[in-house]
Amino acid sequence: MLYLGCHLSASAGYLHMGQEAISIGANTFQFFTRNPRGGTAKPLDLSDVAAYLDFASAHGIGQIVAHAPYTLNGCSADPAIRDFARRTMLDDLQRLDHLPGNLYNFHPGSHTGQGMETGICQIAETLNAILTPDIRTTVLLETMSGKGSEVGSRFEELREIIDRVALSDKLGVCLDTCHVSDAGYDIADDLDGVLTEFDRVIGLERLKAVHINDSLNPRGAHKDRHARIGEGCLGAEALGRVVRHPALQGLPFVLETPNELPGYAREIALLKALREG
Ligand code: FE
Ligand code: FE
Ligand code: ZN
Repeated sequence: MLYLGCHLSASAGYLHMGQEAISIGANTFQFFTRNPRGGTAKPLDLSDVAAYLDFASAHGIGQIVAHAPYTLNGCSADPAIRDFARRTMLDDLQRLDHLPGNLYNFHPGSHTGQGMETGICQIAETLNAILTPDIRTTVLLETMSGKGSEVGSRFEELREIIDRVALSDKLGVCLDTCHVSDAGYDIADDLDGVLTEFDRVIGLERLKAVHINDSLNPRGAHKDRHARIGEGCLGAEALGRVVRHPALQGLPFVLETPNELPGYAREIALLKALREG
């Protein structure tokens, strides 16, 4: 089963996102849990959630990916910023408990000059403060491009975070094809090698979602500029190999390319065609 979708605006609610996904040939989607700049979330509309859950099961929508605001930073040198990340993520997880069994993806953070080890420890502390045994959401660390002082561009860094979290059975990883290429991994020409390395360092059983993006920049650029499928340095053929790879079957693939809905519909059709080979 191929679960394929894209990032959607959450402003009109869950049912609307589900309907939009189906209208463009998707059967999963991603959304920001709140304004990406990190403000307060609007109150959860439980009737919208109930209507979405009915719609999703009727239309075969698989696991969906809630994305934390990308400005959160659980390893900032500023303790107030770390505290804000903690409170926001906790609130997100409490809301997501109304949609059990889904995924919550976040950017591990930027150590802002404190050094990688301190960053890793503070991210783990953040997770230890918010994870509880009863949550029904899997929390995903996203692989990062290594821009600035970002933590999580090396698989080893993600592994170290996971190792320091007590309830690590609640954790997984979301692999972003643009980011891993920007981080230096040769996902375009050596996908098998990259996945073997992921398995050796983190374990493929932790891989729970894929962000399927082309990159405007060559491997190792540490830029994080997404391109449309086939319009970047990875290319459509290489991204086709990603959606076809046997080790990745059943995972949600989410496009985060610069597109409006019609562009996403075209990319979904393109990736479906590439998957058939
Ligand atoms: Fe992201
Ligand atoms: Fe991403
Ligand atoms: Zn990105």
